[in-house]
Amino acid sequence: KEKTRFSLNIMIDEVLAFLYLSLLDSKVNVVKETNEEMELVGYADEIRQVLINIVFNAIDVLSQYREDPQINIKGYTVNDTHIKLEIANNGPAIPEHMLKSIFEPFVTTKKLGTGLGLFVCREIIEKHKGILACSSVPDKTEFIILLPLAKNPS
Ligand code: ADP
Ligand code: MG
Repeated sequence: KEKTRFSLNIMIDEVLAFLYLSLLDSKVNVVKETNEEMELVGYADEIRQVLINIVFNAIDVLSQYREDPQINIKGYTVNDTHIKLEIANNGPAIPEHMLKSIFEPFVTTKKLGTGLGLFVCREIIEKHKGILACSSVPDKTEFIILLPLAKNPS
């Protein structure tokens, strides 16, 4: 397996296309706000898995709790060295005692959940020298990904 250089912006579009039927079924409206390519170097299949996991968790919670479900994706460059990606949904707040443990393995609130999704997401992001965090208040649960930008020129 080799690291490649890829555009996170394009990858987000691919992930949304991949999840198209789930988004349609759950009536989730996705608003994406990124005008930068956000070039990264890494294991593209792993980063794609992170995005799918986080968006799918959002669809999961929204399909239970909201009449007007929405996911907001925002990506931008910080300090010319990193990209910051924010994936937010307008679902209920994660209780504070839960928020501390959602990245631990086997922590789930779902009947058929594995509790492994976010654990694996964090492993992948940290392997890419990034940070994965979550903040949650009523109507806004947000996952924040920080990753180093690919250095120029490639
Ligand atoms: P699983 O999806 O199998 O439950 P995850 O590791 O993906 O495992 O998520 C762990 C738990 O974190 C979920 O069961 C849920 O309680 C909580 N969670 C994850 N994403 C969200 C979200 N967007 N909104 C509210 N809770 C969430
Ligand atoms: Mg999950």
